Amino acid sequence: MRLVDTHCHLDGHYFPDGPEGPIKRARAAGVVGFMVIGVGDTMQPAREAVAIAQAYPSFVAAAVGIHPHDASTFDADAERELDSLGRSREVVAIGEAGLDYHYDNSPRDVQRDVFARAISLAKQIGKPLVIHTRSAANDTLDLMESEGAREVGGIIHCFSEDWAFAARALDLGFYISFSGIVTFKNATSIHEVAARAPLERILVETDSPYLAPIPFRGKPCEPAMVVHTARRVAELRGITLEALAESTSENAERLLGRTFATIET
Ligand SMILES: [Zn+2]
Ligand SMILES: [Zn+2]
Repeated sequence: MRLVDTHCHLDGHYFPDGPEGPIKRARAAGVVGFMVIGVGDTMQPAREAVAIAQAYPSFVAAAVGIHPHDASTFDADAERELDSLGRSREVVAIGEAGLDYHYDNSPRDVQRDVFARAISLAKQIGKPLVIHTRSAANDTLDLMESEGAREVGGIIHCFSEDWAFAARALDLGFYISFSGIVTFKNATSIHEVAARAPLERILVETDSPYLAPIPFRGKPCEPAMVVHTARRVAELRGITLEALAESTSENAERLLGRTFATIET
């Protein structure tokens, strides 16, 4: 069985044993590929994500972006650096970027402006987007449509919306990525999407170090746990874990335009 964790944060400070520990444990659990996300209130996490991908070129890819939480820190220097990091060989996607009106850590008009810039950057570089959206469904979809996100496609990460949202995102050519939230009992609208979305358009992720799936809820999350998320999605679709793992891994490779080396046994 092979699985790809399409969204994890492995910045040095999150794990006491650095990125090496969680990567090693995940590989032992059958996770063959990782997309490490580099975002923060400086460009340091983006540089780190690229460095991790450089250290493990056969199975780690990077995405660099500007999280809506940090939108107000995005200045001309950051934009220049994001542009140059975004073009590196290890970087396969731009993000995460999007809108988060739940926390409102940056003013909403600034979030919208920075999200539009991220979409434009992804189009210039020609790499798919990783989208974060929370309590901002309509504005997120409207901006994706008006800014032409369809041109590059990408991922709705940590999907936590409903079928109506998923249908519009699928129409725009996006993939839907499920996190540990899909294992929560009360997440019924997410269960519906996990069962209904086309098999060739779904992905799984951990969003480590957050959102550990059941039975690890509340504990620090790491990529090895993506197996539990995949198992729940398989169960909701009535297919085997192995079939779900194979399809989602193929989907990740198709979208990200690279393969992830299998584990030698
Ligand atoms: Zn996110
Ligand atoms: Zn994230």
